Amino acid sequence: MNKKVLIIGAGVGGLTTAVRLLSRGYEVKIFEKEKTIGGKVNFIKKDDFCFDLTASILLTPENYKEVFDFSNKNYKDYLEFIRLDPIYRVNYYDGSSYDISSDLVKLTETIESISKEDSQGYLEFLSNSYRKYLIANKYFLQKSFQKATDFFNPNTLIKALEIRTFSNTYTYISKFIKNEKLRDYLCFLCLYVGISPYHGPNIYTLVPAISQLHGLWHLSGGMYSYIKALNKVVVELGGTIETSTNVNDIVISQGKAVGLNTSKGIEKGDIIVCNADFSYAMKELITNKKAKSKYTDEKISKMKYSCSTVIIYLALKKKYPQLLVHNLYLGENFKQNIDAPFKGQLPLKPSLYIYCPSRIDKSMAPKERECLNIMVRVPNLSFDHIKWNKQTIRLLRTRIFDAISKIKGLDDIEENIIYERYLTPNDLLTTFNSYNGAAFGLSHTLTQTNYFRPHIKSETVENLYFVGGSVQPGTGVSIVLQSSKLVAEEIMKVLAKSVL
Ligand SMILES: Cc1cc2nc3c(=O)[nH]c(=O)nc-3n(C[C@H](O)[C@H](O)[C@H](O)COP(=O)(O)OP(=O)(O)OC[C@H]3O[C@@H](n4cnc5c(N)ncnc54)[C@H](O)[C@@H]3O)c2cc1C
Repeated sequence: MNKKVLIIGAGVGGLTTAVRLLSRGYEVKIFEKEKTIGGKVNFIKKDDFCFDLTASILLTPENYKEVFDFSNKNYKDYLEFIRLDPIYRVNYYDGSSYDISSDLVKLTETIESISKEDSQGYLEFLSNSYRKYLIANKYFLQKSFQKATDFFNPNTLIKALEIRTFSNTYTYISKFIKNEKLRDYLCFLCLYVGISPYHGPNIYTLVPAISQLHGLWHLSGGMYSYIKALNKVVVELGGTIETSTNVNDIVISQGKAVGLNTSKGIEKGDIIVCNADFSYAMKELITNKKAKSKYTDEKISKMKYSCSTVIIYLALKKKYPQLLVHNLYLGENFKQNIDAPFKGQLPLKPSLYIYCPSRIDKSMAPKERECLNIMVRVPNLSFDHIKWNKQTIRLLRTRIFDAISKIKGLDDIEENIIYERYLTPNDLLTTFNSYNGAAFGLSHTLTQTNYFRPHIKSETVENLYFVGGSVQPGTGVSIVLQSSKLVAEEIMKVLAKSVL
């Protein structure tokens, strides 16, 4: 008889675990509390404008494609990847602006136009960070650490030492690059997973290296087209997705997960995969103390969380050729303002990431119009002195538009707004149950990474697994895709053993 797998949450992690298991003959049912699937990779539709809700930077397209290979599908039947070049337009508060090309000749010209003495160091930085990525990918990202000996063995420890993540990102970058503009640009990219470049480990310097060496990509129709494609595959393979169905708790009997208590009743299953945020799930979906084990409510509240994000979505009534798909604005007092969210402060002079997919994708906005996401990093909700009310949003909006006006050609944006909407940390908490409204879940500190990050298989409850950004190997869509591979393979391995 086929094993029945119940999945809590239709985020990228839940959907891709479903696809993998369905393709190996399992019966799979997903329960999603929201009306739409995709979790944080979601969308807003307003008339003919389409906004990607959160994720927009597509790194390592091979990870996106691998899920299709795994389930014997051809990704080309579902998705169109478009390579971007230049990958970023970087705007500084002094009015200067540079395009970062993935073409090495053009890149070198740009780096030398910023700082002649740094081109060699820049290439060394890329090469060193890429080397770290190759090691991390082979020895850490594609591996689940369950027993202490999976991590504490000479081979793995040597590799951990080789990637030397101990110094912070800024210090690491500064070893190769002297110019502050270039340092700021690279630090900004390393904010990708919501940890401070001035305090966190330097492993995320792999982000600029991968963006440069594997390129940045756009999916025709935006990031949400990936979710639509996964939905199609789930249906083709016979899976079921129940939207608008909240899971209240995981039913555990005699040390085994045996079902889910949902808003529509009890559902029995052989295996439970939890894609809901790990910290939320431990606190709210698992009530049994023994099952929580070391993840007591107190421990969960003391763990470290990534920062959060505010996004302003704008539909604009004219074109802005000054923008590429991915744009950065690096503001005054860069360090102080980038570090502010990690100290519980709103940035006074925010640095911004501006996503404008309608520059190349006609399906995202009507002709002669533009759609824009403006993102700024803010404190997560553990800093509870900040109230995400109209006043706070108005204050931040003023600072953001003040920054935008420093970018050449964007000074009239406010006059051309047809539609405006916001996402705050509160939305991440209430819509997706992201603990503390953290954009990227549990932070990637050294004590919350690899073996020390929550495991994909429960250590105390049989048949219970976790997938997603807050468990191994980590956060960001490409890495969550790896998490689902680890989970599916572990489930298949455990079941194969049990029939022997
Ligand atoms: C602002 C922002 C920008 C980002 N930018 C990027 C980017 O550019 N590139 C990138 O790669 N990544 C980016 N990320 C990160 C990326 O979006 C996440 O790492 C990834 O989407 C997480 O997927 P997940 O499957 O772990 O969880 P989620 O997307 O959180 O999915 C969990 C699902 O579980 C559901 N759920 C929760 N509780 C219950 C319950 N009780 N019952 C039923 N369902 C429940 C939720 O509604 C949700 O659908 C960004 C994130 C944010 C917030």
